[in-house]
Amino acid sequence: MAREQIDKKKRKNCNFCADKVEVIDYKDAQKIRRYLTEAGKILPRRITGTCAEHQRELARAVKRAREAALINYVYD
Ligand SMILES: [Zn+2]
Repeated sequence: MAREQIDKKKRKNCNFCADKVEVIDYKDAQKIRRYLTEAGKILPRRITGTCAEHQRELARAVKRAREAALINYVYD
């Protein structure tokens, strides 16, 4: 955990931070899909490099996108 925090400070590899995105648009399904597995689950931060704040934003956007039927729900 501690190492992860150090890495975060060293280099920003969060795409949302890089793009200076503050609010993730849930209607941008194409973008959101890049952060999902084929099963429709959100990819973990250690894989995508998304920061904690944006991961939280992303989870919210994904939830809204699902409610709006823009992306699929997780299949069994
Ligand atoms: Zn970020």
